[in-house]
Amino acid sequence: MDMRLRWFLNAEDRLDAWVTRQHQERVLAGRTAPVGPCPDEAFLEGIGRQSKQIALSDPRVDHAANCPVCMRQLLELRFQHQSRRRKLAFTAAVGCCLLIVAAFVVVSWRGTNATHPVDNMAAISETIDLSNAGTLRSLQSDPSQPSPLQSVSLPRALVKVTIILPRYSRPGQYTVAVTHDQSANDPLAHGAAAANGGGDREEVSVDLDLRKSKPGFYFLATTHEQDQASYYYPLQIK
Ligand SMILES: [Zn+2]
Repeated sequence: MDMRLRWFLNAEDRLDAWVTRQHQERVLAGRTAPVGPCPDEAFLEGIGRQSKQIALSDPRVDHAANCPVCMRQLLELRFQHQSRRRKLAFTAAVGCCLLIVAAFVVVSWRGTNATHPVDNMAAISETIDLSNAGTLRSLQSDPSQPSPLQSVSLPRALVKVTIILPRYSRPGQYTVAVTHDQSANDPLAHGAAAANGGGDREEVSVDLDLRKSKPGFYFLATTHEQDQASYYYPLQIK
C-alpha cells in the first residue's frame, strides 16, 4: 500500500512518478480491485489538494488509489487544482513584474530629477525687474511694518529667473535665494551666478526649482559675494 500511495505524498521524485504512472495505468485499465464504496467528491478534492486533514490510513484513500472511477476524478481534480495554482502563480508573477517596473520607473525618475533637475525639464523664463525697487535690508527690517514694496511673483515651477538688479548694483558674483523669512536660513531654492551688464544696469540669471514649494509669500534674497548682508524683496509664489 505504501508504494501505491506514494503518488499522494510526493509526485516530484522521478522513480515515484514512474511508479505512479504504472499504478495509474493499472487502475484506469480496471486491473485493480478497490475495496468499499466510492467516497464523495469533497473527500477526493481533499486528496487532490493534498489536504493534511486526510489520514493516509483512511480506507477511502486506499479505495481511491485503486478505483478507476475515483482515479479519473482525482486526475481531473488535480489538473484543475494545478491550473488554478499556475494561474495564481502567473498572476503573482505579473504583479511582481509590474511592481518592479513601477519601482524602476520611480527610482529612475527620481534619480534623473535629482541629478539633472535643469536638464530634463524646460525651465520657465521669468524676469524680475528690481531696477527701481527699494529693498528690505535684513538688518533694518521691521516685521510689524507691512512692506511698502510691490511684491514680485514667480510660478511654482522650475524657473530660470533673470533679475535686473537695483540701479548701481556692483558687478560680481551674486547668490539668489528664495527664503521663508529675512534670514538666509533654510532657503527653498538658491542659485549663484555672476552678474553681467555694465554701467548702471546689472542683471543676474539663476535657475530656481520652486516645484516643491507651497503657494504663498516668501522673500527673494540677493547677496553679493563681498557683502555680509542680503537684500530681501517680498516674493509671492503662485
Ligand atoms: Zn471509487
